[in-house]
Amino acid sequence: MLSVLSCIAYEHDPFYLSLAVLVLTTGAYFTLRLYARVRRSASSLKLLWLVMAGLIGGGTIWTTHFLSMLAYESDLIQGYSLGLTIVSLIVAIAGVSLGFLVSDITDRPFSTEIGGALVGFSVAAMHYVGLAAVEISGRVIMEPSYVAASVLLGGFFSALVLNRISKQCSRFCGHVAVVLFVLCVTSVHFTSMAGITIIPLGGDAGEAPMFSKGVLGIAVLLVMALLFLSVFMAYMIDAKTEEATDGRIHRIFEHDALTGLLNRPGMNAAVGRVLQRATSSPSAAAVISFSLDRFLDIRDAHGQKATDSMLRHVAKVVSGCLSDSEQLGRVGDCEFLVLASDVYSKREVNALCARIEAVLGTSFKWEGGLLPVRAAFGYAFFPLNAREAVELIDKAEQAMKCANRAGPGTITPYKESLGVTAKERGTLSIDLSHAHERGELELYYQIQNNVATREVTGAEVLLRWKHDTLGMVPPYKFIPIAEETGLINVFGPWILQAACDEAASWKAPIKIAVNVSSVQLAKDGFADIVEDVLRKSGLNPARLELEITESGLLADRNHAMQVIRDLKSLGVGIAMDDFGTGYSSLATLQMFPFDKIKIDREFVKDLGKNKHSAAIIRSTIILAESLDIPVLAEGVETEDQLEFLAAEGCNEAQGYLFGKPVPVAEIRKITNARPMRPPLSLVS
Ligand code: C2E
Ligand code: CA
Ligand code: CA
Repeated sequence: MLSVLSCIAYEHDPFYLSLAVLVLTTGAYFTLRLYARVRRSASSLKLLWLVMAGLIGGGTIWTTHFLSMLAYESDLIQGYSLGLTIVSLIVAIAGVSLGFLVSDITDRPFSTEIGGALVGFSVAAMHYVGLAAVEISGRVIMEPSYVAASVLLGGFFSALVLNRISKQCSRFCGHVAVVLFVLCVTSVHFTSMAGITIIPLGGDAGEAPMFSKGVLGIAVLLVMALLFLSVFMAYMIDAKTEEATDGRIHRIFEHDALTGLLNRPGMNAAVGRVLQRATSSPSAAAVISFSLDRFLDIRDAHGQKATDSMLRHVAKVVSGCLSDSEQLGRVGDCEFLVLASDVYSKREVNALCARIEAVLGTSFKWEGGLLPVRAAFGYAFFPLNAREAVELIDKAEQAMKCANRAGPGTITPYKESLGVTAKERGTLSIDLSHAHERGELELYYQIQNNVATREVTGAEVLLRWKHDTLGMVPPYKFIPIAEETGLINVFGPWILQAACDEAASWKAPIKIAVNVSSVQLAKDGFADIVEDVLRKSGLNPARLELEITESGLLADRNHAMQVIRDLKSLGVGIAMDDFGTGYSSLATLQMFPFDKIKIDREFVKDLGKNKHSAAIIRSTIILAESLDIPVLAEGVETEDQLEFLAAEGCNEAQGYLFGKPVPVAEIRKITNARPMRPPLSLVS
């Protein structure tokens, strides 16, 4: 050790030594970066990077060696043999390349370190060939133990170098590897040099072509400068191409291919950028989520070409109505987001939603006809509702889902209670699967009355869930879950049987109306279930009325038509529920043989407040008359509403004015009373 240190301190010229250290450190840095590049390159580029790493690595070792030789102060050195000097360069480059190749070629344990050791051995090999290139007027005696130590140290340090590069555990590993590389080269050189003794002999060097110390110095520096320059340029070209490719990849990954709008990752990034800006300046932002109404129905009815074209249409018209500070993205099948980066109040966001709704309403033409495009909107505010992009989008979407349940055209701002709903849904769906066996499900009945005479004409059965801890869970919360999970196919037949059994037991032979979900209707054998229930209960089929919504019919029209025919051949009546809220209620009405139309309570509720509601009810009644189908209005709560309906010629009404849904014991008081009369008005 001491002789190694004294060799460095006393036998080397500090200028060349510093130059050697500088070249070595810089070269080590480049080499290891290139080696890391080899490891992460695809196979087609790997070889190119490997050759480059070998050139720089070998070149660095070689240059360092000869600079150190130039630093080595001995008057006995006469010059350098050209051939062996070149051979030593080739040995270095080939050895380093081979080591890198071995380290990277398999995933076997220690292959990295074995490759590393090979690099170290080639440092030693280069060193000894390099020594042989030195023409000395004396006899060189090498201490075998120093030779062995230099080879082992070289192998050891360079095994560590590649180990640190391939298995990086912190951001310092790269720096540690550079230091180890320097240690590898210097330990080989100085350990070997410390073990050398030169016995002067006098006389001239051999005949081989030779060059002097100065020429070698210039040659060495030139080689190194050329190598560094080419690597630097290769790196720059590579970085630029990578940047360009990154940009292209970003574009592809962040855009929706169909509409060219930003997709979900794109929107996430865009919202993130705006929020970052908004945090540093006092501005607010909002995300609006909207989804197209009846999208799946339209796809089923008109095909994917129609919906694709519709989505492009929506992208175009909505983009056209946005300002520079507003950005549109398509983040789901039929779901869009609008990022508004310069809004401060709910009023502004509501106005923006209305603007979008208005352009959507400019209907979309398809195959000569017009397809209505409608949407429900939900939005959330930054920083009021959320401070992060993903959370803000999520909250806007929660609000949109809530708006969706209320129907197209609804605009719902996010509020905390919606967040609970999303969580609640998860718990509810688990609890609902046990609700039936735990006896938590119960049927309520709501009477239906003749508008003119106020007589009770029927009763609708409505499912109720008494959750053991949450209490009454409203149907709008659990029916969709029952439909999504398929539980409705368990509940449905039970409801039908219980309702028919109950109605068959009543003294008054009024109708019993049972809701049938689209999920039930789509399942094979529904008519058989009904037939079976009728047989078991002994109920006159003419007293059973099945309430079906439009969505239940459009999913598979041919199947639905067949089921309805089968049901009608049993003598059962079919009512169209929620009339007016559907995608194309009029068309559906003409297509299927309904026995009753139930006008949705949304329209009745707005009577007196909204001119459109009155117009819709009026025209529905006229149309129904022309088709000879009786009309029932839902949700009648006031005498004024009843009066309007009576004047328009509506046949039946159902609502709190006559009675809220009640448990079976209560309905029996009405259906078993003689003469049967409705209870007194419950709501004033
Ligand atoms: P729906 O078929 O339109 O049922 C009528 C809804 O209007 C019932 O709500 C009823 O309680 C409510 N309602 C009746 N009169 C009035 C009124 O004057 N004012 C107001 N504000 N509301 C009134 P409910 O019981 O909450 O049921 C909601 C929906 O859940 C039903 O709408 C139906 O779609 C579904 N549903 C309920 N029971 C069943 C069932 O057994 N099977 C299926 N598939 N769906 C059901
Ligand atoms: Ca109904
Ligand atoms: Ca309804």
